[in-house]
Amino acid sequence: MYNLNEKQDFKYITFPSFEKHTELLHCFTTRKGGVSSGSFESMNIGFSTGDSDENVKRNIEIMVERLGINAYDIVETNQTHTNTVKYVTEQHKGKVFGETSFKDVDGIYTDNKNLALMSFHADCTPVFFYDPIKKVIALAHAGWRGTLLNIVGIMVRALVKDFNSDPKDIKIAIGPSLGSCCFEVDKDVADMFLNENREFIKYMEIKEPKYHFNLWEINKYLLMKEGIKEENIEVSGICTKCNNDLFFSHRGQGGKRGLLAGILMMK
Ligand SMILES: [Zn+2]
Repeated sequence: MYNLNEKQDFKYITFPSFEKHTELLHCFTTRKGGVSSGSFESMNIGFSTGDSDENVKRNIEIMVERLGINAYDIVETNQTHTNTVKYVTEQHKGKVFGETSFKDVDGIYTDNKNLALMSFHADCTPVFFYDPIKKVIALAHAGWRGTLLNIVGIMVRALVKDFNSDPKDIKIAIGPSLGSCCFEVDKDVADMFLNENREFIKYMEIKEPKYHFNLWEINKYLLMKEGIKEENIEVSGICTKCNNDLFFSHRGQGGKRGLLAGILMMK
């Protein structure tokens, strides 16, 4: 499930199960409400996408204004399709218009309040984590590589180890990303999935000569394996490629696209 919200012309997605927690601020952005044009139209929040830095900077300014957060409270991932997760604090803030102070980190987590975690997406799955008992939040970028590398399981283990979280308490939201309708791969990648875990065959469909996998369900399975309760996992269920008017899609736009943001903060 998901809700589509609009503030002026800025449109963003929220998840009903996370909305219940009023101490949280969360969203997944859409293409709507920014100043960029062409393939980047219009809310592109990713530098180095080919868009002008000026437009991206302006888009970030619009986004934080609409959401009511401070740009200097944001801590971003530095995504390279790894399964590395990192605990971030106040000291990592303030880099939203420049380089992060760390490299190759696809998942970030914190117990700091007023620290807005941010990740980047154009088809790759965003996964939001919240432990309302231990007051910890986390955000992960789980593309197909990150999914294969079980970044979601690694994140749960990090929360258990560092904060003594009980997986049964952790709430999850899986945001807009490629559905099984559009995540099609050749046999070589299909074999990588099946060699990783034979169970993944349950989430595979053969549409000759391609293989389709349901990455939402695979991540859900991996989370449940760590003890997350099924009723605590919300899958937004909206495919970015099928809805390319609303979302940037790497596959839908042949690689020429902007980036969307996942944002999660404890107030
Ligand atoms: Zn689709």
